[in-house]
Amino acid sequence: MKKCMIIGCGGVASVAIHKCCQNSEVFEGIMIASRTKSKCDALKEKLQPTTKTVIETAQVNADNVDELIALIESYKPDVVLNLALPYQDLTIMDACLATKTHYVDTANYEPLDTAKFEYKWQWAYREKFEKAGITALLGSGFDPGVTGVFSAYAMKHEFDEINYIDILDCNGGDHGYPFATNFNPEINIREVSAKGSYIEDGKWVETEPMEIKRVYNFKGVGEKDMYLLHHEELESLALNIKGIKRIRFFMTFGQSYLTHLKCLENVGMTSIEPIMYEGKEIVPLQFLKAVLPDPASLGPRTVGKTNIGCIFTGKKDGKDKTYYLYNICDHQECYKEVGSQAISYTTGVPAMIGAMMIMNGTWNKAGVYNIEEFDPDPFMEALNKWGLPWEEDFNPTLVD
Ligand code: NDP
Repeated sequence: MKKCMIIGCGGVASVAIHKCCQNSEVFEGIMIASRTKSKCDALKEKLQPTTKTVIETAQVNADNVDELIALIESYKPDVVLNLALPYQDLTIMDACLATKTHYVDTANYEPLDTAKFEYKWQWAYREKFEKAGITALLGSGFDPGVTGVFSAYAMKHEFDEINYIDILDCNGGDHGYPFATNFNPEINIREVSAKGSYIEDGKWVETEPMEIKRVYNFKGVGEKDMYLLHHEELESLALNIKGIKRIRFFMTFGQSYLTHLKCLENVGMTSIEPIMYEGKEIVPLQFLKAVLPDPASLGPRTVGKTNIGCIFTGKKDGKDKTYYLYNICDHQECYKEVGSQAISYTTGVPAMIGAMMIMNGTWNKAGVYNIEEFDPDPFMEALNKWGLPWEEDFNPTLVD
């Protein structure tokens, strides 16, 4: 029996679990293991009557390697799909190594006390995974994830060399709240309040947070303000895509979101430095998370679409060429299908596909790899099949 252990039972995991259950030919068994077991049980109760996939649940503290090892040894999954938080990446990788089990995640490791996400900690496991004969597939969400697959696909089929990549992440959804985040608020706010950066001629160029703004007219959404952010896939794509001179990442934000964020920052609510409050140490950002709407509750109220993709500029047969690959996803359609909004959907579907690529042996090489290091074609096909169809534009408007 082919089995996958999914760690975490939040917004993204819920979508991935729905998708595994739709795909029971590959996912014959899944175990949902998370901190709060009642969430895993509730999902099992909802989904088990609808699927042939045999669902089991367990409580686990993914910060504890021994607990993880014991659980993996008892369930014996073919792959562990890590959909907890980036802080757990290394403990879960350690447990996978100890039990010789394949590993897949959607976000790179980030230490709790510094909001600095980079691949060095996980790339340090390369040799160990190779020796153990197992695969770690890093970043199998949308961005990172599909953006890497799009880049590998563009490189394989459309270009001899790619010189510029602009990744554009547009959320045209409206949830009706003055301020809420679409995924884990702590991770989201750490990401957007950090300095921006991009890679040019092999070097990182740093900007102030939200310093670089552009306006872009997105198909399916319309005109939106977008801002340059640091994003983790820049680091791996700059190494893995031939001929790169510059790679940037832009995300759209509405004025209300930015005004609230600025205010929260100005009063110290986004800080990750612990403070003493009534004799107890608290982290302001974690407290803020507790008072903000739960991202999982946004599903029913979010309307509109997302449009996420990559604009490539490079050369084919000696001629200049531009190419835009993107996906448009509708919040309400996602909600109807799996009970979640599009941000969780666009991450959970590629997470399931990544785990499937490893489980059925389509992607099969030992070591630690970013997603663009595998053949993109089967993944591109699976995106069309499992709910994230992509579109192409051979004459896109470029970002200056
Ligand atoms: P949520 O906060 O909704 O879910 C996280 C889940 O992990 C919760 O169920 C939580 O348990 C569980 N968890 C947290 N800590 C532990 C622990 N120590 N042991 C066991 N379980 C734990 O987050 P999201 O679903 O929004 O995000 C999941 C991941 O996806 C994150 O790493 C995020 O960065 C990534 N992501 C990637 C994207 C991409 O495109 N690549 C886009 C969006 C997100 P509990 O229920 O008890 O809180």
